[in-house]
Amino acid sequence: MAGQINAFEMAQKQFDGVAKLLNLDPQIAEVLRWPMREYSFRIPVRMDDGSLRVFQGYRVQHNDARGPNKGGIRFHPNETFDTVRALATWMTWKCAVADIPLGGGKGGIIVDPSSITTPEKERLCRGWVQNMWKNIGPRQDVPAPDVGTTPQMMGWMMDEYSRLVGQYTPGVFTGKPLAGGGSEGRTEATGYGVIYTVREAMKHLKINPTESVAALEGFGNVSQYAAIGFVEILGGKVACVSCWDRNDKTSYTYSHKDGVNPRFLLTIVDQYGTIDQKKAKEAGYLIEDGEKWIEKDCDVLIPAAIEGHVNGDTVKRMSKRVKVVAEGANGPCTPEADDYFKNNNIFNIPDFLCNAGGVTTSYFESVQNDMNFYWTKQEVLEKLDTKMTMAFNAVLDMSEKEQVYMRDAAYMVAIDRVVKAMQLRGWI
Ligand code: NAD
Repeated sequence: MAGQINAFEMAQKQFDGVAKLLNLDPQIAEVLRWPMREYSFRIPVRMDDGSLRVFQGYRVQHNDARGPNKGGIRFHPNETFDTVRALATWMTWKCAVADIPLGGGKGGIIVDPSSITTPEKERLCRGWVQNMWKNIGPRQDVPAPDVGTTPQMMGWMMDEYSRLVGQYTPGVFTGKPLAGGGSEGRTEATGYGVIYTVREAMKHLKINPTESVAALEGFGNVSQYAAIGFVEILGGKVACVSCWDRNDKTSYTYSHKDGVNPRFLLTIVDQYGTIDQKKAKEAGYLIEDGEKWIEKDCDVLIPAAIEGHVNGDTVKRMSKRVKVVAEGANGPCTPEADDYFKNNNIFNIPDFLCNAGGVTTSYFESVQNDMNFYWTKQEVLEKLDTKMTMAFNAVLDMSEKEQVYMRDAAYMVAIDRVVKAMQLRGWI
């Protein structure tokens, strides 16, 4: 949620800036500034106590020139049409920069998922599909889990869609449970994807990964596997991770004199990413204030928790040794932080490139569903590495060719690819 800032206005503003850099025809820019299709609908649900409650649902399909729309469905009490529009727009750029043949979409329901029971959730999920089934599908629009939604919910939604169309269609939703048509490697995908891009950045900057140290914010899905990847794939050391403590309602930084052992921490973290303090202390971990992570002496910073934490204030506390900031989370760095990176020659790997491993593996899931033939985890991760490496290098080449910052270069690569697809199809 972007708080006071309207997320869609922000998405349009970012786009306008890059359209100018690209010298994009204003008429073409006008096509891309807006979603192509938008759905807003009411979902009546019979609650467990017999009452009827009506929920507000959305789906936005921003652009499908490169292939079926792709993007999650969020269950959130503060969901708005504009948030969904913004997120759908960003999905178009993320899929394009990752060079997967998909467009951008996003959906949502205004609901606090913790306020309804499991059977109510199931009816709500099925209700969303009953509204949208004619406009989604493996060749139209493929939703996935997001904030407030889970693999189990994707299972119910896939079942409802299959029932309505009269045939088993696992490829209509991704992020399904493994036994229900999900893909191996999806759990590791986003974090390992972050590490593949960090590895490429290090090659470019001639940094020896085995002598490098990383500090991470967060210890949820992305951060866990980014930390494991930093140690096991790159051979580097992790100085610290951090997390939000659900019991104390504050955040903490966890470090260890010999470096963090992410595989051990994985055994003492709950499903919400809160580390067990007592067990960490017993294992010799130092527990400090949640903002300490940004001050640690390291070469690579990986903010992988929530948006806006690397900002005008915190960025000045960064160690002077930091050479790379890899955005595992969505929107972790503010424009003020970007200015600091530019002035201090810090290499940034922008979020929609850095964390594209998740959507890339969702795409692999659809491909496997289509073939009805499934790859091993090793095959999935090898294909992911190839995709992430190619995406990183396309952005780096653009950045060097046009002498622009990596974030602008990523937008330029993405927008250029979408425009080319629209031209090829004769839309513009
Ligand atoms: P998650 O819920 O699994 O974990 C979030 C982690 O951040 C938890 O450890 C939590 O304790 C911590 N956290 C929350 N607030 C914090 C705070 N104030 N200070 C310190 N730590 C805090 O989430 P995730 O799936 O790892 O996603 C993290 C980010 O990455 C989000 O921005 C998400 O949108 C983005 N992302 C995730 C994926 C994916 O595949 N999971 C893909 C692309 C982008």
